[in-house]
Formats: sequence, structure tokens, C-alpha cells
Amino acid sequence: METLVVKVGGAAGVDLETVCADVACLARSAGYSIVLVHGTSAAADALAARAGIPVRHLISPSGHVSRYTDPEMLEIYVAAAAGQVNKRAVSALQRMGCNAIGLSGADGRLLMARRKAAVRSVENGRQRVVRDDHSGQLESTNSSLLRLLLAEGYVPVVAPLALGAEGELLNVDGDRAAALIAGALGAASLVILTNVPGLLARYPDEDSLIRFVASADLEMAEAKAGGRMKKKLLAAREALATGVAKVVLSDSRRAHPVQAALAGEGTVIAEFAEDMMPFGALPLAEPSMVAC
Ligand code: ADP
Repeated sequence: METLVVKVGGAAGVDLETVCADVACLARSAGYSIVLVHGTSAAADALAARAGIPVRHLISPSGHVSRYTDPEMLEIYVAAAAGQVNKRAVSALQRMGCNAIGLSGADGRLLMARRKAAVRSVENGRQRVVRDDHSGQLESTNSSLLRLLLAEGYVPVVAPLALGAEGELLNVDGDRAAALIAGALGAASLVILTNVPGLLARYPDEDSLIRFVASADLEMAEAKAGGRMKKKLLAAREALATGVAKVVLSDSRRAHPVQAALAGEGTVIAEFAEDMMPFGALPLAEPSMVAC
């Protein structure tokens, strides 16, 4: 049985229901073992707005953008990630006949991370040291817990929260969590679905989609990509480095988004030329979809 990790973004415009429908379809009818990792950003922003808490971001000196998760924002983030979005995905999958089980990275020590006591953030061209950010650098995943669940036919749905060394909750990046899990499970593919068609050469021009990136060119692509796309390319690099053969960045805003991504729709990132040949040689025909 082929193991597949799907990350569905949390930004506005991402279609969680459609992604869940396709995950349910592939798990039920095509025999895939699937782990679904989800993002949280729009739900956390909306909850923060309701609570009157400002959303702020940290920009690392290398240009990576992350949510500034002070203790107040951490409460919002946990509610949005492990509560709202996770349970929305689980209930959608359950409605579609798929036995989904929601987990945050804290459950069963699924995701372990390290919190930096101080992080540097660039503001108006100047660096500032931030000491109360509750974000973590992912270090490990308990893949045996996922294997146990997959072997029993469950579809694990993972919220991007991790446990720190002191047992504290930490905000972690969903794309990198998905990459870590994909590598640890020996998944053949990692599909990252978002609200753009893939990596765009001239963002936001959707006609400028880059169809392939060879892993040797990833660092160069990362340097060109904008803030939030940078993290996806970094996650792709991490997944390939741990043995995942193919990462596809693709659009969630279409029918059968996971199957389309697996058929090469989007930006395919792979180590070997053979992995790209089926898509590179010919213009893409509408891929045949599993009927559900
Ligand atoms: P998600 O929550 O779905 O994971 P993010 O908001 O973190 O999505 O990342 C996707 C976003 O990256 C896009 O909506 C777009 O605004 C931004 N982006 C920046 N540069 C690029 C680029 N070169 N190509 C595509 N998207 C880009």
C-alpha cells in the first residue's frame, strides 16, 4: 500500500472540503495510506480578530515569515489548529466515509520541537530580538504512532502544534511538519496544496507556473520565492533529503486536487529526471481520476 502525505494550507481561499473529499476517495477506493497535515493561518487570524488580538509576524534575517506567537497568540493558535481546523477536517472526512482521527503534534509526542529562547526579527530594516515567541524548530516525529493508526485503516489528521523539551506547546510550520512526517514514514510523495497553482516565476501571475524544479536547483528557487512560498520550498528540500521521491506544490481550488497533484499538475520537485519524465515530455492531459 502506498503511503502519501498531503498538506492542506490554512490560508484564505484554500478549499478544505474538496481536499478532504479527494483524500477520502483515495483512501477508500485507491488503497492509499494517507496522513493529512493541515495549516491554520486564516482560522487563527479570524479567531484573533474576534478576540481583539493583533496578528503580528516575525521575519527572519533569511526572509522566512512566521506568526509571532506570544502567550496570548498561542492560546488562539491552539484553539484554531487543534480545535477548529482539525475537527473541521475530521468531520468532513467522517462524513465522506473515512475513519479520520485528529491529532496535534503534542498527542503521543507526534511532533517534538525545540523552542529558541531568542529569535531575531527584521523590522523596518533593523533586527530586533524577540524572547516570548512560542514557535519551535521541528526535531522529530513519532512515526510508529502513525504507522499503528495507518495499519488499522485510520486517516490521521495532524495539526501543526508540537511539544517542546519542557512539555510546552509550540507553534510549528505545517509544511515542514508534513515533510518530516513524509520522510519518517518513507512516503513516496508529499503533496502540498495551497491557494496558488504552485511556484510562480512572477507571483502573482498564475500563468507563470514553474512546472519542475530539480532538487539541485531548489536553493536557487528558494532565493527567488516570496516569504511564504520560501517555507514550502524549504520543506520540499527537507522531504527530498529524507528519501521522499517527489514533492508537488499544487492548487487546492479545483476538483480532485490530490489526484491532480499526483498526476503532475502544479510544481513537481524531484531528485531524478525520470520522476519528471511523464509530465515533462508531453503537455498535461486531464488526468483520469478515481471515481468515488
Ligand atoms: P498555506 O497556508 O496554503 O500553506 P501560505 O500562505 O503559507 O499558504 O503560502 C502560499 C502563499 O505564498 C501564496 O498565497 C502567495 O501569496 C505566496 N507566494 C509568495 N511568493 C510566491 C511565488 N513565487 N509563487 C507562489 N506563491 C507565492
